[in-house]
Amino acid sequence: MFRALVLLLIVLIISMIVCVSIVNKKLIKNRSHVVHLINMAIFTAACYTVFILVPFGYDTLATFMSGLYFLSTDWLVIYLMFFVAAYTHIQPPSKLPRRIIGILAGVDSISFLINTFTHHMFKLEAGSSDQTGISYWNIQLQPPHTVHRILVYSIVLYSLCILIYRLIKSPVMFKNKYSSILFQTLAVVGLNVFCSVKNAKFDYSVILYASLAISICYFALYALPKKVLEKICSTIVEDSVIGMFAYDNDGKCVGVNEMAKDLFAGDEEIEVIAERYLADWFKEHKDSSLNVIGEERTVIKNGEKKYIYVTYQKYLDEKGRRLGCCFQFEDRTEVVMNFKEEKYRATHDMLTGLLNREAFEIEVKKILAKAEEPYCMVCSNIQDFKMINELYGSDAGDKLLMTQADMIRSKEEEGSVSARIYADKFCTLMPRRSFNEKMFTENMSKLLDLGEESPFKPHFYLGVYDITDVSEPVWTMYDKAILAINTIRGNYGKYIAYYKEELLERILEEREVLGGFDRALAEGQFHMFLQPQIANNGTIVGAEALVRWIHPEKGLVNPGVFIPTLEKAGLIHKLDLYMWECAAKKLEEWKTQGKEDLSISVNISTKDFFYLDIPKTFSKLAQKYDFDIDKLKLEITESALIENVLAIMKTLDELHTLGYDIEIDDFGSGYSSLGMLKDINADILKIDMIFLQETKNIMRSNTILKNVISMSKELGMPIIMEGVETKEQVDFLMNAGCDMFQGYYFAKPMNVENFEQAYC
Ligand code: C2E
Ligand code: CA
Ligand code: CA
Repeated sequence: MFRALVLLLIVLIISMIVCVSIVNKKLIKNRSHVVHLINMAIFTAACYTVFILVPFGYDTLATFMSGLYFLSTDWLVIYLMFFVAAYTHIQPPSKLPRRIIGILAGVDSISFLINTFTHHMFKLEAGSSDQTGISYWNIQLQPPHTVHRILVYSIVLYSLCILIYRLIKSPVMFKNKYSSILFQTLAVVGLNVFCSVKNAKFDYSVILYASLAISICYFALYALPKKVLEKICSTIVEDSVIGMFAYDNDGKCVGVNEMAKDLFAGDEEIEVIAERYLADWFKEHKDSSLNVIGEERTVIKNGEKKYIYVTYQKYLDEKGRRLGCCFQFEDRTEVVMNFKEEKYRATHDMLTGLLNREAFEIEVKKILAKAEEPYCMVCSNIQDFKMINELYGSDAGDKLLMTQADMIRSKEEEGSVSARIYADKFCTLMPRRSFNEKMFTENMSKLLDLGEESPFKPHFYLGVYDITDVSEPVWTMYDKAILAINTIRGNYGKYIAYYKEELLERILEEREVLGGFDRALAEGQFHMFLQPQIANNGTIVGAEALVRWIHPEKGLVNPGVFIPTLEKAGLIHKLDLYMWECAAKKLEEWKTQGKEDLSISVNISTKDFFYLDIPKTFSKLAQKYDFDIDKLKLEITESALIENVLAIMKTLDELHTLGYDIEIDDFGSGYSSLGMLKDINADILKIDMIFLQETKNIMRSNTILKNVISMSKELGMPIIMEGVETKEQVDFLMNAGCDMFQGYYFAKPMNVENFEQAYC
């Protein structure tokens, strides 16, 4: 019996050592508490085992060992307390009780060590062998030992209370986690109490330490509450945003989660709906060998279309037998809608809802790739759209654009596509037969009618390009329609223009002019030609300076080709400055040669008034070159005078003060009124050649000429007639009293050398 007890104790100690070494290797929660507790149990059990093995006669050793055993029970219950606190997450509110317990346990421990010599806690006596034949140490407890008991039992009681509290408060599935430790602890304590009360030869409760240690190890390490997992899993499924129908092996519905109910709820029971869904699915998917099938579907929920991704999944057991199956429904409505919206944003103009540039290009290509009839591209542009924004606010501007878009949309026919390209530029591709010029312009006029009281009447332009080559880049087609618009821009009498090939040639020519201009000017490719001006007595009075571009490749280029382009591009002043300087230089040269009676007239472009301080320029010129100022005559066209009367009058006064003579060029060509003459301080009137050109009513022209000449006589203004080509014209003009002539009849413009040879 004794041997069996010792053997059992040794086996249990070893098993606890194994336990502690396993726990030590695992990174688990509360590991240090578990390790400390089991280590202490091992120590306590070992002390006890050694104690009972001490043979009689070694009283001091036996007393020391049993003292160690008693004091280790103090620390064993303290570690049990620590473990329980950590395991149940119930910590004492302050550290004080722990400290007190620690001090008491310390005092108790010292007391047991001293007891080896003092025997104040207990005494050992050799227990006589009784009928069982076992010899044992009989422990005679002294009154102070009661203090130890009280301490140990109080600590255990505290731990038990915590365990009981936790047990009561825990959900059912966690109860055995606490109850097993609680009952094992109770068993240890109970057996201990029983042995004490019965004054047993041995403390059999030591045997139960091992089972308590193993139990603690098990719960700390391995116990996985499966029910918790199940509960959590089923909650996840129930609350999932993915709807679910689950079926058994016969296709009977065994579960439907909330989301699926929400998606499919109808008049029938949801299980019926689910079972029909499965049956329908199999009708569509005859091949049921696949374990997982996923596809996009739609359902109508409360009249709203929902986009769902359905996954069908089959479940088999380890032997491949069918267990059941399930559907998962992922509501992708938001994603699909976002995607659609994004796509819409990427392809549409947000203000008008028409296509944007990029989408227009794609659509046009698609339509033209299949085109079986002629197509045209129509672009519209509102003149001074900025003014609408400024006068009425950008909201009004936006509204106008939206109305225009609505109008375009409402007229859009099959095979047409429209877009807002940029700002107020709209573009439509349509079959040529659908384009109705009248309807288009009428609609636009209606659209832009801002009402009687509006201070501003917007004008619009339409550019039409008849597509000849469907493989042409879309933006080239668009550019061609815009090019057509550019030909009528600023012309308020016109609304619509068609693209013609010459337009492109003209544009290319313009580009060539602009591209080569600076270099040509720097390289001296521009030359001053002179056309003589003859007085009515036959003597030469001077010449008009007319520019010629002697191009290295093209040869002589007339100003009609490049002057309008340079004017449009705001570059004409550079050329004029050059020409004026040429004229001034020539006059200086003539003066030194004694030919100071000849004058030169130079042209001043309307645009020069914007870019130059003309009086200052001519004043500098007079300082730089030595010539008689009244010999450099300045030709200003009549139209320039009308555009900026006040500013120009001031300039002319300044030029007069400097001593220059002013000629009004092209008189009678524009919308000038004779009345203007009284305000303008000019010296010579140069009548436009238009009056001499062959017209149906030569009589009327002549009458006007006669009257203009006589009127200017009265005003004291000498007259030059330009474009004189025939003797008859000269005769007629002489009769009418014309003072000077310029024209092919006398000479064409010529280079300076030829002029000098002929007239100097
Ligand atoms: P413009 O100032 O009216 O010049 C007279 C134009 O009539 C010249 O054309 C001249 O060659 C042409 N002409 C002269 N006599 C006759 C004639 O009997 N019959 C016909 N049919 N034409 C005649 P051109 O040289 O081609 O110059 C055209 C226009 O270019 C000029 O008209 C002028 O406005 C502008 N221009 C010429 N040189 C310059 C310049 O240096 N600066 C500026 N700003 N404009 C210039
Ligand atoms: Ca002129
Ligand atoms: Ca002229």
